[in-house]
Amino acid sequence: MFAFMASKVRLFVEHPLGGGQSVPLTRDQAHYLFGVMRMAEGTVLSLINGRDGEWDATVVDAGKKGGLLVCDAQTKPLQMPPDVWLMFAPIRKERTAFIVEKATELGAARIMPVQTAYTNNADRIRIDKLRAHALEATEQCGGTYVPEVTDLEKLSKVLTSWDPTRKIMFCDETLLGEASALTQTDGGPWAILIGPEGGFSDKERGQLRALPYAHPVSLGPRILRADTAAVAALTLWQNALGDWS
Ligand code: SAH
Repeated sequence: MFAFMASKVRLFVEHPLGGGQSVPLTRDQAHYLFGVMRMAEGTVLSLINGRDGEWDATVVDAGKKGGLLVCDAQTKPLQMPPDVWLMFAPIRKERTAFIVEKATELGAARIMPVQTAYTNNADRIRIDKLRAHALEATEQCGGTYVPEVTDLEKLSKVLTSWDPTRKIMFCDETLLGEASALTQTDGGPWAILIGPEGGFSDKERGQLRALPYAHPVSLGPRILRADTAAVAALTLWQNALGDWS
């Protein structure tokens, strides 16, 4: 839950949003709005639920353990990000959280942790925490859509059932310095793939390069850490093919 200074609090709720719609609050939400943010009845805040856009809502009941808001008017329609997924191998906890937060801000439709040959922290990944990070990042960045964070799956398994119409921007650290090859003609659904700190195994690289829909891409002449690579790749993709222009 996040508030800009001197601007309206934005809160994610599960409840449907619409004109005149009442929205009951959970205990945690009531604690945050009335205990932490000190809001009183009559205060207006922004609500999102990931489906119905953004709404102004007024506090009509402020309790210690619950409360009620009523939606006034829609302030933003639902704005979907472009159809780009981010697949990455989980790294250390804070850096994995950083990747989820940045992917949400930069505009990814889906965030997919994948286990690769050299992924070593996979057993410690907490998907529920990552989902909470995506929610908070959406509240903070003014977004109306929360990217789905999928359960961890093996990369090999994900690729077995891959829809070949979705291209893969395969960020290959062995291409150091070769030109990145995303062009305006490469529209349609995409997924970005970032490897772990240990990089991709030769076997994985061979398999990925053999896929007709995988496009090996360089992220410049230096080796980036996986979290930097995720941000750089999404930025390149958004600039070439996304909704930034
Ligand atoms: N240990 C590896 C580097 C892994 S970097 C090595 O020394 O070679 C982690 C991931 O970030 C890589 O698997 C790749 O997906 C991405 N990455 C980092 N730098 C990159 C670059 N210059 N070009 C393309 N991908 C890069």
